Amino acid sequence: MPTLTAYIALGGNLGDRHATLRRAVEMLGEVGRIVVRRVSDFIETPPQGGPAGQGPYLNAAVEVETDLSPGGLLAALQEIEKSLGRDRHSEQRWGARTCDLDILMIADKVIDSPNLTIPHPRMHQRLFVLLPLAQIAPQAVHPILGKTVAQLLAEAEAGR
Ligand code: ATP
Ligand code: CA
Ligand code: CA
Repeated sequence: MPTLTAYIALGGNLGDRHATLRRAVEMLGEVGRIVVRRVSDFIETPPQGGPAGQGPYLNAAVEVETDLSPGGLLAALQEIEKSLGRDRHSEQRWGARTCDLDILMIADKVIDSPNLTIPHPRMHQRLFVLLPLAQIAPQAVHPILGKTVAQLLAEAEAGR
């Protein structure tokens, strides 16, 4: 596999959120076939779309280079979620979690398979994704929408 640039979103709202995000970034670098190139600030955002009453999230985005397949990258992210204590079976949809790692984009790949959709299908609607992503990759282009991350952020902020 060639080495490609990918963007990953990180978020969590349980436990020591700063420590968890720091550890998640560290663990990405420890996978071996992932090189972390850029890390956004950790940004606090209100919970969106899940059950009421959960606490605020800490979100970040990272740019990596990897020669893993898309499925291999997803598996690596799920391993990290698990070792950070994420327990999918006790979770509600969009409910509280220690750490969620989503693949936002992998170069200009478009994938729509049962367990992996790239670009992430909701990334362009989410300020908690676009705000940190725009810090590290404002000029990255969404391969379906044909817009830069900076444009998507401006549109999301304007409510379009
Ligand atoms: P959302 O996808 O709306 O952000 P979520 O992150 O809470 O919700 P999860 O429970 O973490 O959803 O993941 C559900 C499934 O989504 C995973 O098992 C995975 O197979 C699938 N999935 C599809 N596309 C992606 C992607 N781009 N990145 C990560 N997981 C994905
Ligand atoms: Ca998610
Ligand atoms: Ca996820």
